[in-house]
Amino acid sequence: MNKDSLYSSDSLPPLNIYRGRFAPSPSGPLHFGSLVSALASYLDAKANHGVWLVRMEDIDPPREMAGAADTILKQLERHGLYWDDAVLYQSQRSKAYQSVLEKLKQTGQIYPCQCSRQQLKEHQGIHNYRCELFDQTAPFALRLSAKKPCQMTFHDIFQSNQQQDIQQEVGDMVLYRKDQLFAYQLAVVVDDAFQQITHVIRGSDLLSSTPRQIYLQQQLKLPTPEYGHIPVAVNPNGQKLSKQNHAKSIDDNTAEQNLATAIRWLGLPLPASHTFTNCDELLTWGISHWQRSKIPKMQEKVASN
Ligand SMILES: [Zn+2]
Repeated sequence: MNKDSLYSSDSLPPLNIYRGRFAPSPSGPLHFGSLVSALASYLDAKANHGVWLVRMEDIDPPREMAGAADTILKQLERHGLYWDDAVLYQSQRSKAYQSVLEKLKQTGQIYPCQCSRQQLKEHQGIHNYRCELFDQTAPFALRLSAKKPCQMTFHDIFQSNQQQDIQQEVGDMVLYRKDQLFAYQLAVVVDDAFQQITHVIRGSDLLSSTPRQIYLQQQLKLPTPEYGHIPVAVNPNGQKLSKQNHAKSIDDNTAEQNLATAIRWLGLPLPASHTFTNCDELLTWGISHWQRSKIPKMQEKVASN
């Protein structure tokens, strides 16, 4: 497979233009935490005269909610967060993911695995060895061999220098799941390259995934975007606001208020002296006052999931 086939058409602008993205999974409507992520990626893109794209990460049907993809898009629009190109749906990208797996198979970098959770527990959850197929007829996952050692470092826009030893802390990542679905890590890397993303601004819950995504980019000879992770919003119990934790959907009837709260959450104090009447005004103010240095630092270091 030719590397160039990972990229999209010639109609896209040249690579020196900032290209950011928001990539929700349609497991439920937007909650406050996902609105903050969307807003941060939008403001960073627009403050840098870039384009902002939306990608629907709908490759995990068991975790998805019917209608959630459309709801999310409507919620973004209600908050004035308009994207600059067609929404990319990962459910329509299987051929691209499959061709990458074929390439890695040809170079001997992936191997089949049928290990159970129990077997993984015996290795502290880290699968960093080649295993044997137990049952030739049963489904298997595909794992990417991590080099030994495999120390990855990168500079995070908001959280400074990060490092992780993939081999020790993550092991051989799954690119294709035993339940016959493409893994998130594969899809996100292939599509960031396809959409020519130059900056990934997202929640810090994905910080520990970034070194392995960079590793996979390197194996596929794909460019590495710049990464910036914003601290995730937590509930009063200190849990991350997520659909898994039953975070409440944002109320579209209070879009201006939601946006104002999210802007303040990103370290930008809205002036009390000015009344903002709509989302566009709030976003315009946010773009002109966006400062990366205002994003709170996290204490957390990169660790495996
Ligand atoms: Zn295994």
